[in-house]
Amino acid sequence: MADKAYLDWPFFEPRHAELEAALDAWALEHVRGLHGKDVDADCRQLVRLLGEAGWLHHAIASEGDGGKIDTRAICLIRETLARHNGLADFAFAMQGLGSGAISLFGSQAQREHYSPRVARGEAIAAFALSEPGAGSDVAAMQCAARQDGDSYVLDGEKTWISNGGIADFYVVFARTGEAPGARGISAFVVDAGTPGFEIAERIEVIAPHPLARLRFDACRVPAAQRIGEAGQGFKVAMATLDVFRTSVAAAALGFARRAFDEALAHATRRQMFGQTLADFQLTQARLAQMATQIDASALLTYRAAWQRDRGAKVTKEAAMAKMTATESAQQVIDAAVQMFGGLGVTSGHPAEMLYREIRALRIYEGATEVQQLIIARELLREAKESS
Ligand SMILES: Cc1cc2nc3c(=O)[nH]c(=O)nc-3n(C[C@H](O)[C@H](O)[C@H](O)COP(=O)(O)OP(=O)(O)OC[C@H]3O[C@@H](n4cnc5c(N)ncnc54)[C@H](O)[C@@H]3O)c2cc1C
Repeated sequence: MADKAYLDWPFFEPRHAELEAALDAWALEHVRGLHGKDVDADCRQLVRLLGEAGWLHHAIASEGDGGKIDTRAICLIRETLARHNGLADFAFAMQGLGSGAISLFGSQAQREHYSPRVARGEAIAAFALSEPGAGSDVAAMQCAARQDGDSYVLDGEKTWISNGGIADFYVVFARTGEAPGARGISAFVVDAGTPGFEIAERIEVIAPHPLARLRFDACRVPAAQRIGEAGQGFKVAMATLDVFRTSVAAAALGFARRAFDEALAHATRRQMFGQTLADFQLTQARLAQMATQIDASALLTYRAAWQRDRGAKVTKEAAMAKMTATESAQQVIDAAVQMFGGLGVTSGHPAEMLYREIRALRIYEGATEVQQLIIARELLREAKESS
């Protein structure tokens, strides 16, 4: 049983502890053991379950709480789901990330058409920004959208697209050429099944999730499917990612907490050399380090979430949280695998699953090196402003 003392930290309000307790009980019953062989079917089922139970409303910017995003709630939900089942966290996060651009910048017609179905778990969303030649360097994007009368014609590719192959719609970023680089990009909603749009390839990764490369070949979408102003796509993408970056830290925290709980329970049971594994000081030192890394990650994560909910700028704080929580979780999970010995590398063991699950979080939504650059840029800017 995880230690919940952190819910008393001043970052939270009473409703957050209530939310966590309700979700924890729900997730234990409904998603903890949901690990089938068909990742697409599991993901669809998880989206439906999360929607029916009302949890997805928290991921949608235009829903609930007067249209305000509750970053602390999103983080607590991701942390809790990640602790129980990585795919459940993925399903929740992608409904938010995939529909975020529509919630934040979409027309009223777009919001009315997509957001309620996403929140009910009836439509699956995807966010298509990355390309084979444009990952960390988003502005190098090649996928193009040419205006033709009252429609746009899309040509190009997107890759590493989560929910690719099962999504009902994709928010696609394409070059419209108003200006060079990041200023000549626009965002569009493309429905699955639109002629000229196909799944070029499904991508298998170490922790199975629906993931695909997309191809657009003279794919025509009505101009009304453009999200926000022409040429503002980069701003749309960054604002959407800004909402969810801190929540990647929270997901990593959830994985780390689960690894710690599993390792602690194992260490106190496992007999060797006439005592338990936990009786050795080497084990105790490792447990102390794991617990401290978890608390440090949680403090940074919920500081960023709290600061965002107060309306403050969190560029530096979110980057610190994402970098620290994902890197620390990798170390905590690796330590857990080590404590389990052979069991820790056995397919399907919780420690083995967490070991595969955590890796991608250090890469996507800004790799650790990108977070370092963001933190340093903010520090240097602050220093310049105060000199
Ligand atoms: C499981 C998974 C799911 C994903 N889901 C989505 C999705 O839904 N939608 C979407 O649009 N994209 C998605 N992505 C793509 C993801 O955002 C990119 O993989 C990420 O931005 C890195 O881009 P890249 O893979 O092209 O690596 P590159 O850009 O080639 O970077 C490779 C490595 O270079 C290093 N690096 C980067 N910048 C610097 C620097 N300035 N200095 C030094 N080193 C640097 C980092 O270690 C980085 O990992 C997903 C990726 C994964 C793995």
